[in-house]
Amino acid sequence: MMGELNPFEIAQRQLDEAAAVLGLDPGIHALLREPMRELHVTLPVRMDDGSVQVFKGFRVQYNDARGPVKGGLRFHPDETIDTIRALAAWMTWKTAVVDIPLGGGKGGVVCNPKEMSQGELERLSRAYIRQVGRILGPDRDVPAPDVYTNPQIMAWMMDEFSAMQGHGEPGVITGKPLALGGSAGRMDATARGGMYCLREAAKVLGMDLKGATTAIQGYGNAGYYAQLLGEELLGLQVVCVSDSRGAIHCEDGLECEEVKAQKDKSGTCVGLADTETISNEELLELDVDVLIPAALENVITAENADRIKAKIVVELANGPTTPEADKILHEKGVYVIPDFLCNAGGVVVSYFEGVQNAYNYYWDLEEVHDKLDKKMTAAFHVVHETAQAKGVHKRLAAYLVAVARVAEAVKLRGWV
Ligand code: GLU
Repeated sequence: MMGELNPFEIAQRQLDEAAAVLGLDPGIHALLREPMRELHVTLPVRMDDGSVQVFKGFRVQYNDARGPVKGGLRFHPDETIDTIRALAAWMTWKTAVVDIPLGGGKGGVVCNPKEMSQGELERLSRAYIRQVGRILGPDRDVPAPDVYTNPQIMAWMMDEFSAMQGHGEPGVITGKPLALGGSAGRMDATARGGMYCLREAAKVLGMDLKGATTAIQGYGNAGYYAQLLGEELLGLQVVCVSDSRGAIHCEDGLECEEVKAQKDKSGTCVGLADTETISNEELLELDVDVLIPAALENVITAENADRIKAKIVVELANGPTTPEADKILHEKGVYVIPDFLCNAGGVVVSYFEGVQNAYNYYWDLEEVHDKLDKKMTAAFHVVHETAQAKGVHKRLAAYLVAVARVAEAVKLRGWV
């Protein structure tokens, strides 16, 4: 679904638009258009059948003017350096828009985890850290989970890094299991942060979310918890969810635990009893109140934006909407909660995890939720008010806030 649209070119175009509105210094603009550092690695991994397979991996440190680099690691067969560059840029804007003292980065390995055993995944994860570990560390660059990576993979990576250092270093990575220094509340943090934003959006729109029909594209960590928390916190009625194999639809609503059980059993939500199977494309165009893209980039484009019927788009995925589609949705009056604001809950709780690791003192769930809510709510309203004041769409407003903050740090450091 990433199509021919190059995510990094899109990220640069989005920045260019913000730079023009901000009247950004040309030197700062030129610096912010490019990653500051990137490492490309080749990883030989012993497979279960005794053969060796060679994988390509990357880590992009986009910008660290505001603090150590932060951002997830994706294991995906379609990964390219340009998707990682785009995602690293978006992490830079994400940490800035929620105002946490971190920079932005991203990493990835071109692989298909669905076809790998646990042993193969462990050896790949450790091989990645043996190569990339030299540029990581709690004060340098701190990875986290993303598409097709999880707490177990973070645990292996933290262990490998600690072995390389000769001492435990839990703060090198976030999204770890609780038993190894993970934070309470990290598992559902991305979706929870998005639901707090949705709650605030409904307030400013004067909309009642109780029973609001909802479609969720993608049923990984973000999509699953979006259904669970959307129902629990806001009373949404989720009528359609999907994964890479297709979407399931039921007008009367889907039971979250039934969908999860079906997916755990067969690897896909498709086939759940009493549901109609439709395509991912059809899901996006359903007549629902709330649409939650929670999968990959470039799914709402110039081609289908006009047919989106939702009133609010909650972007839990990174980069789901192209710049052309942004304009169309804005003109149609659809309220888009832009990705790097909407899905920032994950990195906010990652930041909390890093703080707890540094203090070696851990907070309870209530404290994490409370602090996350404050961060997300404040960021949402800054972006909303900027959009109102400048008369621009929400993504551009989020860029105006974030880019101004990164630019200030760059300038104060004397880089430009
Ligand atoms: N991968 C997540 C994101 O795209 C989380 C990053 C982090 O926690 O560092 O925001």
